[in-house]
Amino acid sequence: MKSTQSINLNYRGRFAPSPTGPLHFGSLVAAVGSYLDAKFHHGKWLVRIEDVDLQRQVPDAAREILYVLERLGMEWDEEVIYQSQRYEAYRDALNALNEQGLIYPCICSRKEIADSSIIGLNGPIYPGTCLKSPASVKDAHALRIQTNNDAIQFKDILKGAYAQRLSSDVGDFVLRRADGIYAYQLAAVVDDAAQNITHVVRGADLLDSTPRQIFLQQLLGYPIPQYMHLPVVTNAKGEKLSKQTNAAPINISDALAQLVDALHFLGQKPPLEILEGDISSFWQWAKQNWCVTLIPH
Ligand code: GLU
Repeated sequence: MKSTQSINLNYRGRFAPSPTGPLHFGSLVAAVGSYLDAKFHHGKWLVRIEDVDLQRQVPDAAREILYVLERLGMEWDEEVIYQSQRYEAYRDALNALNEQGLIYPCICSRKEIADSSIIGLNGPIYPGTCLKSPASVKDAHALRIQTNNDAIQFKDILKGAYAQRLSSDVGDFVLRRADGIYAYQLAAVVDDAAQNITHVVRGADLLDSTPRQIFLQQLLGYPIPQYMHLPVVTNAKGEKLSKQTNAAPINISDALAQLVDALHFLGQKPPLEILEGDISSFWQWAKQNWCVTLIPH
């Protein structure tokens, strides 16, 4: 009989694709992993379209991603939210951080930062030029948050303990770019809180973003979800599959085989006959047999 330990009716997970192109095998793995973890726990699975940076969007990509998810039999439990419609919420959060005296304008160019910085976990560490001599807000400016060197630690469900000291590992980071676009770190944190997300399951390429997100959650008084960072799919050159590395779009005429591949990638061991069934029998098996300890990490 199935263990009741897996039931967590409060579980709320999400899949948050950026509509910069069609769904590819890498994003399918994140979708399948987050969906199965939610469904295994009898929780909810939400979809959020991360189109905060409208300039990077490919027309129709969001619609296509949702269409493919539907055809793959992955149903979301609540209305899809679009970050392009949530700027007010991001502005309010930024104001709340500003009231804590932590936000400052920055007019440094990318080149200036690259020339004067040491390299951290996520590129050059901002040397704090505009914190030391405040920039005029008349000029186009980004908004940065002042970090500190307290250890931010969390226990990833797959990767175990992970910690960063933001000042020395990543530096003061941008929350709103000079062109007015809100940064991923801020938008993701505001939306995870607004959607009451309890479990964030996503690719391990975002593991090093998590301490920045926890830092913001702490400052904004938001709950901190549990995190599980899945292995990243790479191509033969070892590059993460993405639009930039020309990842092939998921082909829905071959949906079952691609779902089975995603399951194998996540270390699950479906019976061979799974390919003789259909999408609905696939999900029935996968939801019941989802086993986190089999995921390679
Ligand atoms: N939008 C991000 C991506 O497509 C995922 C963000 C997240 O899951 O927090 O890579």
